[in-house]
Amino acid sequence: MSENKDINTIANQLLNAQDNINNVATKFNRNTNSVVLMAVSKTKPIADIEAAYAAGQRVFGENYALELFDKQQTLSHLKDIQWHYIGPIQSNKTKIISQSADWIDSVDRLKIIKRIDQHAKALNKTINLLIQVNISNSPQKSGVSLDQVNELAESINELKHVSLRGLMAIPDNYEPNADGQRPQLKAEFNLMFTCYSHLQQQYSSVDTLSLGMSGDLNIAIECGSTMVRLGTAIFGKRK
Ligand SMILES: *Cc1c(COP(=O)(O)O)cnc(C)c1O
Repeated sequence: MSENKDINTIANQLLNAQDNINNVATKFNRNTNSVVLMAVSKTKPIADIEAAYAAGQRVFGENYALELFDKQQTLSHLKDIQWHYIGPIQSNKTKIISQSADWIDSVDRLKIIKRIDQHAKALNKTINLLIQVNISNSPQKSGVSLDQVNELAESINELKHVSLRGLMAIPDNYEPNADGQRPQLKAEFNLMFTCYSHLQQQYSSVDTLSLGMSGDLNIAIECGSTMVRLGTAIFGKRK
């Protein structure tokens, strides 16, 4: 496959994804610009990110600390990229994550958050945070339970170099029922939206509810997501 074909494919997939977001938002009486598209570029080469950037994409998500660091360094001349770290956070990686991320969307422990705040201070920056909620209570997933969100939000709000922007969740992969519906997924997205709305009333900095990936973005938008995280739909399958 030639390089140009890759670039066109990524640009087209971005257009299609944005079209779909606009259509679904409109269908549910939402403003089309109330949903941000994050391009999840984990495992994908720099050339793919450059192609997406050339097509106008600015918000990117990465899952692995060292990979984010390398990509951010390589592309540091593209100053208006907004880098989101969306993977699990090991405490010995908080420094390089803080160096390279504008947002960290997967915080769930105060100890880690305090380290991020210290690193942000040393770097003379403010890092935006989303609290990750383990909405499906999956043993293998990171995230706090819904009833722990308020306490963590209060603690974040007291720190000076991080800004609480909202919530993120990765629900289980619920298969559609015989009617093609996913009621459990919808119920969990709705719980997230309720929690997010309460948080928004308490903290003026809160403006982001990150829900929805390539396989469930339409339901996420229906339920109030303000940020969808698309990997496969933009860059194709990962190995
Ligand atoms: C990989 C990943 C995505 C993108 O998933 P796709 O199904 O490829 O769209 C979104 N969010 C998180 C947290 C991820 O790890």
